[in-house]
Amino acid sequence: MLTPNLTVNAQGHLCIGGADCVSLAKEYQTPLYVMDEAVIRESCRKFHTVMQASYQGNGMICYASKAFSCKEIYRIVHSEGLGADVVSGGELYTALQAGMPAEKIVFHGNSKSYAELEFAVTENVGRIVADHLTELAMLNEIAAQQGKTVGVMLRIKPGIDAHTHDFVQTGKIDSKFGFALETGEALAAVKACGSYSNLKLLGLHCHIGSQIFETAPFAEAARVMIRFMQQIRETLGITLAELNLGGGPGIKYVESDDPRPFGDVVSDIISAVRESCAACDYPLPYLLFEPGRSIVGAAGLTLYRVAAVKTIPNVRTYVLVDGGMCDNPRYALYQSQYEALCADRADAPKDAVVTIGGKCCESGDLIGEHMPLQTVSAGDTLAVLATGAYNYSMASNYNRNPRPAVVMIRDGQPREIIHRESYADLVKNDL
Ligand SMILES: *Cc1c(COP(=O)(O)O)cnc(C)c1O
Repeated sequence: MLTPNLTVNAQGHLCIGGADCVSLAKEYQTPLYVMDEAVIRESCRKFHTVMQASYQGNGMICYASKAFSCKEIYRIVHSEGLGADVVSGGELYTALQAGMPAEKIVFHGNSKSYAELEFAVTENVGRIVADHLTELAMLNEIAAQQGKTVGVMLRIKPGIDAHTHDFVQTGKIDSKFGFALETGEALAAVKACGSYSNLKLLGLHCHIGSQIFETAPFAEAARVMIRFMQQIRETLGITLAELNLGGGPGIKYVESDDPRPFGDVVSDIISAVRESCAACDYPLPYLLFEPGRSIVGAAGLTLYRVAAVKTIPNVRTYVLVDGGMCDNPRYALYQSQYEALCADRADAPKDAVVTIGGKCCESGDLIGEHMPLQTVSAGDTLAVLATGAYNYSMASNYNRNPRPAVVMIRDGQPREIIHRESYADLVKNDL
């Protein structure tokens, strides 16, 4: 099985965290997201423990909640000692509703609205990561109106492209996010902060990408950022106290993926931070990491009912399911690879190669192509693995499909953490 929490019981059914997927599909209907709380908590601990043990706890792991946002996930990560990243007023609202302390929230986004910034300042969010000069001006105005000083970080483009085979450090300035280093824009932004009396510049932030397996690009980002902090100290006499290195560690979607243990990733980055700081005699900064996918991705799977199997001779076999791009748009967006199983006969050999097609009115509505799968027929339960991140959070009501329920498993027992949307939910804002 792809991950150790997935097992097969005596009836040959797929189990997640000890819960039988075939029974779950019957009880809660399909499509259904199922998440394993033990896996989520273990991932939180892998990051958190290394931060405590190798960096004296001088930092914070913030769960990047765009990967999966709902009240229960904020409660879980908070109980594990993590903070949270949010990227919209809606995520911020959800986090606060769930009891995440405002000072442990980091607010990101390259295009936050005035209203969103006002909301964040009103709620005393701990760190707001500013992305452009207009935002700094808006934020200072809002902070002044409320008579507050707001803690700000600046999003920097460190010029590292981690998505190429051998990561390259180039002038990757063509991104909508952040301030570029090599054009002097980043240094100008640091200076600009000094002119705003209601902003307190806490430090710098970067995020080099997602689903990254090597640690070298993260370590290189840390070195680039600390060199820049040193340059700021030299030229402006400002010693910044915090460094936020973003998220991005990769997870295992298919057997051939071989991610490094998350704890090792963090400890490698911490080593790079220590070395870079030692090299220029810079005080060790308060460190933030923002893992999203790696906290929830491997913890989840999606259950579908097979509606029909359509074989086009000499072309391909479509396995058609009762969900699709409306609950998992990732294949349509970027050809993301997944593993699928027949949950009713999980240890039977995969003797077919299929395309899994969704129910949406789009030819591109596929969950995957060239996927090995047991021979299935209408009525079977299909499981698509490792869908805990960027599935529910990217789900839509396209074709007016109600969003599926999310069930969390703890000690083999399921509990619903998000109800399935009803048809009535779909029209509740319609006039
Ligand atoms: C998306 C994002 C993350 C999380 O990325 P993962 O790949 O899910 O770990 C963290 N920080 C920022 C700023 C992001 O945009």
